[in-house]
Amino acid sequence: MVKNEHVELIPIFDDNYVFVLIDSDANKAVVVDPGEAGPVADFLCERQLDLGGILLTHHHSDHIGGVGELKAIFNCPVYAPEKNQKQISGADHWLKEGDQLKIAPWEFTILELPGHTLGHIAYWDQQHKWLFSGDVIFGLGCGRLFEGTHEQGYTSLQRIKKLPPQTLIYCTHEYTERNLEFCRILTSQDNTPITGDSEALELYANVLSNRRELGLPSVPLKLSIEESTNPFLLARNVEQFRYLRELRNRQ
Ligand SMILES: [Zn+2]
Repeated sequence: MVKNEHVELIPIFDDNYVFVLIDSDANKAVVVDPGEAGPVADFLCERQLDLGGILLTHHHSDHIGGVGELKAIFNCPVYAPEKNQKQISGADHWLKEGDQLKIAPWEFTILELPGHTLGHIAYWDQQHKWLFSGDVIFGLGCGRLFEGTHEQGYTSLQRIKKLPPQTLIYCTHEYTERNLEFCRILTSQDNTPITGDSEALELYANVLSNRRELGLPSVPLKLSIEESTNPFLLARNVEQFRYLRELRNRQ
């Protein structure tokens, strides 16, 4: 039987995405990081999808704001990082490094990726090669370190880099164009320690501007492309990562 599973994006706020995993054969869905409920509930009702669960990557309000309302409407279980028990209310299951989560037709391995926040987790679907990574990595960039250290941020990105190259990264924000500007500043500096593949970056820029002109998202990211262009994945050690992060913070 041909499997009929895919991911759709619902844009919310200025530049967030809520991801909806859809099993069309069973009319089942799972949502990731619903920062608000209205657009997600409308989407699910229009498609007549039953919500089988809500997955949360971290405790920031633009990722969890819609949880209470969606849970009240759909009466579905909520999964959240174990280290965020104090910050997230209404979760039913707490997840930590190495946990396996089976929900509808999907199976995830939980990766703890601290840095942006200390309790941040990602959901890795090995079968589909999908990574739901919240605010850890962005197109040509990475999340700000609000809680974690540079060491943690660097290590978390290195873990993503070790996933299979065909991995599709579902990151929560559409920041890629802004990060491309940062890459251009970086490559124009004579003393930059990070040298990515400039041809790959130009190709990336062309594809990106075409997609954005058509109103299409830059997400999901392709790991095979990010690993040769994203300066934060190209950093060879914590010091390089720190240099990049501090430079980016000043932009
Ligand atoms: Zn966040």
